[in-house]
Amino acid sequence: MKIFKFGGASVKDATGVRNVAALLSQYQQEQVLVVISAMGKSTNLLEKIVNACVHKTGELNHYLQELRAYHYAIVDELNTSKASAMVNDIENLFLELECLVETPVNIEEYDFIYDQIVSFGEMISTKIVSHYLLNQGIKNQWIDSRNFIITDDRYRDARIQWNETEQIITKRLKPLAERNLVITQGFIGRGPVNESTTLGREGSDYSAAVFAYCLDATSVTIWKDVAGVMNADPKKMDNAELIQELGYSDAIELAYYGASVIHPKTIQPLMAKNIPLHVKSFLNPQDDGTTVSRLSHKLSVPCYIFKTDQVLVELKTKDFTFIVEQNLEQIFSLLAKYKVRCNIIQNSAISFSFVADNKENKLEKLLAELVTLGLETKTTEALELITIYNANNASIQYVGSIGNIILEQKNGNTIHYLINR
Ligand code: ASP
Ligand code: MG
Repeated sequence: MKIFKFGGASVKDATGVRNVAALLSQYQQEQVLVVISAMGKSTNLLEKIVNACVHKTGELNHYLQELRAYHYAIVDELNTSKASAMVNDIENLFLELECLVETPVNIEEYDFIYDQIVSFGEMISTKIVSHYLLNQGIKNQWIDSRNFIITDDRYRDARIQWNETEQIITKRLKPLAERNLVITQGFIGRGPVNESTTLGREGSDYSAAVFAYCLDATSVTIWKDVAGVMNADPKKMDNAELIQELGYSDAIELAYYGASVIHPKTIQPLMAKNIPLHVKSFLNPQDDGTTVSRLSHKLSVPCYIFKTDQVLVELKTKDFTFIVEQNLEQIFSLLAKYKVRCNIIQNSAISFSFVADNKENKLEKLLAELVTLGLETKTTEALELITIYNANNASIQYVGSIGNIILEQKNGNTIHYLINR
């Protein structure tokens, strides 16, 4: 069985959905399970709906309208026969969402509410694709992945409960997927009290890997609007090159440092069962793209990973005493409490610094609590972190030419530069 994954960009409009159908029509003789993300940027829009709902900003109806208009434009274009099944299902989902956001919310439950609302993006996209395929004569079975992807209740970053997930997939999904083309959602799962959970932004790749692992798939293909995994973001570097073959461990490291082509958790389940991962262009499906698999050689070409909107946080003790173990313990436990992931950490006798993504209000809360420990904090925002994997002299010169280097950290052949452009 093959697992295919289509991201938001590949189903961002009616043309995208038609492309998906054209591609799937070529695989009708094979066993395929298809994982689909929310359309285009609709997850971002759903995040705005969450904020408007929780903080009662008065923009809720405006965003709901925008979400409707966006999807109905696609539905209207695809559903030319005006067959009602697609419209019925979509309308019902919108109704469900609109009723949900009307219910009173407790701000303390932000992450829980987030998962209940944001999961609608994938529900809507998969319904549209599944009905469109049926209308085109491509038989398929839509399923709710929340019946199979069983997670804990760490909302917005839920962890898979592997035993339960594997058992239910083997028992209920496998026989079904062996007979039908299956269309299902990425990114979402079900928590301990039957609520929706999400696996972290861009988590659909990971969903595809979980299905692949539990179904013993022969391969996973992530269909994208780029040729495959490149050694740099082609929008940022003119001479970016395609990497044709990548070992699992190189892929894990690149994803860990923030290469956005593959979600960091994706590789591990595939590696455990030696399932190859293809990253291919849905615009040129005949091209090979990138294959990630078990390789005996390491990647040698330098890879550039750019992360914007970084913040540098410098902590000092007010009385210039040493940053001792006790301070460090408190700092790390607060980082864990607010789920702030450090991209770089550095410490000296009297200071401790870290670089993190400048996300939402997590940092503010973290900083406020650090101050209560008697630490002085200084933050510098709007920085860019460039990580070079397999750095060579030319790549180091390149970084120096594009901005002021504020901080540099070397770890074997990997160099991190924090720069101010
Ligand atoms: N729709 C989700 C997101 O945009 C999941 C995904 O695209 O993989 O983060
Ligand atoms: Mg997406």
